[in-house]
Amino acid sequence: MIAIPRQKPVFRFAPSPNGPLHLGHALSAFLNRDMAQAAGGRLLLRIEDIDLTRCTPEFEQGIYTDLEWLGIAWETPVRRQSDHFAEYQAALTTLIDRGLAYPAFLTRGEVKARVAAAGDPWPRDPDGSPLYPPDDRERSEHERQAMLASGIRHAWRLDMMKALDFIGEPLFWEESGDGETGRIAADAARWGDVILSRSDAPSSYHLSVVIDDALQGVSHVVRGLDLYHATAVHRVLQTLLDLPAPIHHHHRLITDADGRKLSKSNGDTGLADLRAGGVTADDIRHLLGL
Ligand code: GLU
Repeated sequence: MIAIPRQKPVFRFAPSPNGPLHLGHALSAFLNRDMAQAAGGRLLLRIEDIDLTRCTPEFEQGIYTDLEWLGIAWETPVRRQSDHFAEYQAALTTLIDRGLAYPAFLTRGEVKARVAAAGDPWPRDPDGSPLYPPDDRERSEHERQAMLASGIRHAWRLDMMKALDFIGEPLFWEESGDGETGRIAADAARWGDVILSRSDAPSSYHLSVVIDDALQGVSHVVRGLDLYHATAVHRVLQTLLDLPAPIHHHHRLITDADGRKLSKSNGDTGLADLRAGGVTADDIRHLLGL
């Protein structure tokens, strides 16, 4: 019998270099490393730096320093998203050509004004942000082309209802994390017309993450529960772009004393500050209950 080589599981830790890493990142990195080791798999590090206004080389260097200190090894070369804008643009073009994406001209202020002017409560996505108003989706092709030709700043958004119609069947993902587990129904409609390419960056989190996970052969996505619902959007994009669906594990979030999710401005839980205060990598594992 011929032995068919089995692909090794591939895990990735994918921080954004827009602030110092904190305890929540350490949990994510440790879980990715521990699960990769237990599965005999590989661990990749990906730098998610599409937001060039907030990401800096210093924060990127901080990620390497913190991970080394934690004793976590990753494969090189590291994929840095800002080196791959052309790949994200190519995927966006595919969606535009199929009529599933439209140029979005409303500014943040205009969206806010629409929401404020509406009599009824405006629908919100799982993160609490108002859904993008229908104005741009409803424009005629003629008007759209005229606006594009005039050079108005714009983003690109997915026409979610059209995309779901195009897919034509319910989507699911496999979940093994700290929330609901098993086969999870992906409810992407509640996100509305998500952003695919920003007006200030030629991609978006959702678009880059599904392309990178596919190109890097990621089989297991281990990340915080704050991204649990975003997985529905990722399943839609994976299906539209014919990309494989990884298995997901969304882990518990580390909260501050008031029960709030840690943010990059929570200096006291920053790994570099903890290290400077004499805390060891082992202490961090204990602090995290690992
Ligand atoms: N870059 C994201 C973050 O720093 C994580 C993305 C992901 O794991 O899918 O929160």
